[in-house]
Amino acid sequence: MQEGSIYVLRIGHRPRRDVRITTHVALVARAFGAAGFVLEGGEENLKSVRKVIGHWGGTDTFSIRAVSDPKRFVREWKKDGGKVVHLTMYGINIGGESLESMQHHGPVLVVVGAGKVERWYYENSDWNIAIGNQPHSEVAALAIFLDRLSGGLELSKGFSDAKISVIGSEHGKNVQKRLP
Ligand code: SAM
Repeated sequence: MQEGSIYVLRIGHRPRRDVRITTHVALVARAFGAAGFVLEGGEENLKSVRKVIGHWGGTDTFSIRAVSDPKRFVREWKKDGGKVVHLTMYGINIGGESLESMQHHGPVLVVVGAGKVERWYYENSDWNIAIGNQPHSEVAALAIFLDRLSGGLELSKGFSDAKISVIGSEHGKNVQKRLP
């Protein structure tokens, strides 16, 4: 755990149903500046994320791991001095003081659910934050939260070990491939 860094914990992954969404949660975490992604579940669910990191970069700067006991992970995170934000439509709408105090605190663990989230997470998180109080998606909620937390700066971040990267262009596709 690094000072000031952001990690994302995805809980409740349902192996058949959530495969694509969980991959998208991990890719949003990576693209929007988080330092790591933690998944409740088996290592096999991280295969496609590892593949993307291998091509697009982040091997050294974006860590991924699977855990079987996410509550224990949260407890240890807090014991080590980290803060926990649970994203939920039932929380306090994002903005204001809570956002400021999250920006000024040490490492932040962002928890996103899949199906019904256990009450334990509501009670053991430092903040329960809503991205609006309407039901939508963990992918959308995470992207907006990370963007607000980092003030938009994360979008210009690159990965120095990328084998393939995009040079943004007005028309068409400009892709740069690094020779092995
Ligand atoms: N019905 C579930 C419950 O009661 O917890 C939520 C399921 S929702 C499809 C999956 C995840 O998306 C939630 O656990 C939460 O992390 C996120 N999410 C959905 N809408 C949200 C919102 N308006 N604000 C923040 N997070 C949201």
